[in-house]
Amino acid sequence: MSTYQTPTQERTDTDDRIEGPIPEFDKFGQHTGEHFYRCTDCRAEAMRERDLADCCGGAA
Ligand SMILES: [Zn+2]
Repeated sequence: MSTYQTPTQERTDTDDRIEGPIPEFDKFGQHTGEHFYRCTDCRAEAMRERDLADCCGGAA
């Protein structure tokens, strides 16, 4: 079982709250080549992760 860790990587609340990048599909199910991020709290979606940084106050 892998126990690989990245101790130098700083974890924030945003990491747990924001899901993505998620591939974006159009109404025909075709991948648009874009991707987006989603707030798992309120389901808000944004093209950039940083756009959701202040979403839901960013606090646990
Ligand atoms: Zn939110």
